[in-house]
Amino acid sequence: MPSVYVGLGGNIGDSQTIFGNVLADFSQDERIDVISVSSFYVSKPLDNKQQPDYLNAVVHLHSQYSPHSLLKQLQYLEKRYGRVRSGQNWASRTLDLDILLYDDLIINDAELVVPHPGMLERDFVLYPMYEISPTIEIAGYGSISSALKICENRGLKKFNEHND
Ligand code: AMP
Repeated sequence: MPSVYVGLGGNIGDSQTIFGNVLADFSQDERIDVISVSSFYVSKPLDNKQQPDYLNAVVHLHSQYSPHSLLKQLQYLEKRYGRVRSGQNWASRTLDLDILLYDDLIINDAELVVPHPGMLERDFVLYPMYEISPTIEIAGYGSISSALKICENRGLKKFNEHND
């Protein structure tokens, strides 16, 4: 079965609970086997704007979904969990699910770009991925350890539910 890495991110609402729900849905999906899940990490918003820190994680799956079917499934989950009540209004999306790697495929079409563009610059992708798969190769690039050597660590830290 194809080996897939999916990135989870969120900074509005109870991201920890949302991540737990998404992982439970993956586990219950007959077409998905969850191989491993990274620790949860806390990262600063990329644009440095005044917004809450992000919670991030990476999950390694074996998936029977084709790349585009998996994207649709992830978008369904984003809709399902990605909104929280904020006063009278529904706040903007709270869950971001990205296909980071899909085997060694390189995909570049209107809907899907894999490996995910930008992943090489994102400490909150590379560190969790390295934690669960330290020898993974990034299609079209090389080893994760070589990617990590040139990726700026922007103060990423492991989430500690007792302190945060
Ligand atoms: P965003 O709002 O940043 O989550 O971007 C969502 C859009 O990115 C969707 O329209 C997807 O079709 C597109 N997209 C392109 N490549 C990927 C990928 N590898 N994983 C998830 N979404 C992707």
